[in-house]
Amino acid sequence: MQIIKKKDEFRASLLSWYHREKRDLPWRNTSNPYYIWVSEVMLQQTRVDTVIPYYERFIENFPTMETLATANENDLLKMWEGLGYYSRARNLQAGVREVVENYGGEVPATRKEISTLKGVGPYTAGAVLSIAYGVPEHAVDGNVMRVMSRLLLIEDDIAIPRTKKIFEVVVMDLIDKEDPSSFNQGLMELGATICTPKPKCLLCPVRDFCNAFHEGRQEELPVKTKKTKMKVIPVASFAVHNAHGEWLLRQRPSKGLLAGLWEFPMIELVDDKTLPEKVHEQFGVELQGLTDILTFKHIFSHITWEMTSYLARMTGTDSIPQGFQFFTPEEVESLPKPVPVLKIWEEIKRGRID
Ligand code: SF4
Repeated sequence: MQIIKKKDEFRASLLSWYHREKRDLPWRNTSNPYYIWVSEVMLQQTRVDTVIPYYERFIENFPTMETLATANENDLLKMWEGLGYYSRARNLQAGVREVVENYGGEVPATRKEISTLKGVGPYTAGAVLSIAYGVPEHAVDGNVMRVMSRLLLIEDDIAIPRTKKIFEVVVMDLIDKEDPSSFNQGLMELGATICTPKPKCLLCPVRDFCNAFHEGRQEELPVKTKKTKMKVIPVASFAVHNAHGEWLLRQRPSKGLLAGLWEFPMIELVDDKTLPEKVHEQFGVELQGLTDILTFKHIFSHITWEMTSYLARMTGTDSIPQGFQFFTPEEVESLPKPVPVLKIWEEIKRGRID
């Protein structure tokens, strides 16, 4: 690892660039720790452009921690519908409840206390503390690791969790004690807009301090070993309606993948049986008029669903499979659904069915 020699000049260059060039994002116009917490949770694994409308709608519906603490699960998941990683929403609510119950509604201002809250890891803790309270604390995410690995020629593998500690230490050494909020956000902004996987070094405000740039090695960093191969699972989903124009859905279990969200009947195609055989085996019903709707891939962090979806009718004689209910289209609309189900439902609404 190399060092940055002129730390004060480095900070000044980063901060003046940040103040000049920062994007105008809704969570940058507030120092409310709850709002910043919400934005940081939403931004994990999700792009800024996607987050903006979700953030605005969420804050409009849950303007205070008390309103989020008392919200019911369906309303909460509906606000998160389509954003993915739904456990984030549940953890956020659980953390907010702890603040309301144990801290008199004030988000704690020390790393020790804030880190005890559900769902608040080292990054979120540092982001809320530095941005909302001006506490000089590190907030190291993937973007910051990419920037720092290049600035300091850090060659440790960032795919290994303990490597993050190295970056937390170097950020604490460099952080601007007067304005840790702008320093942390400056590093994040640099990683998001300039020091991207294909870095735009000619536009970089801290190029003079960058060891990787001077050695022409910026594209080699960060070192990141490849993930294990993604498991691909073929899945069929059936949008089943009855003679009254109602649709068959069930709620997924309260734990695990897409917990608590609503779905059409779905089966994993792991053997050679025909679709009608599998449907009968799993749900005990005969489906009629099977028509293709959409074929697409849905990628989770560890698996990919290769989804084929069908429109189908249930025969009048079959009883409703266990765990399912029929819903009117208005009710389907109001249920929180995961992205694959939303896609199928949107296609049905558009009437684009062969
Ligand atoms: Fe990243 Fe290039 Fe700037 Fe170095 S000079 S920090 S590699 S953008």
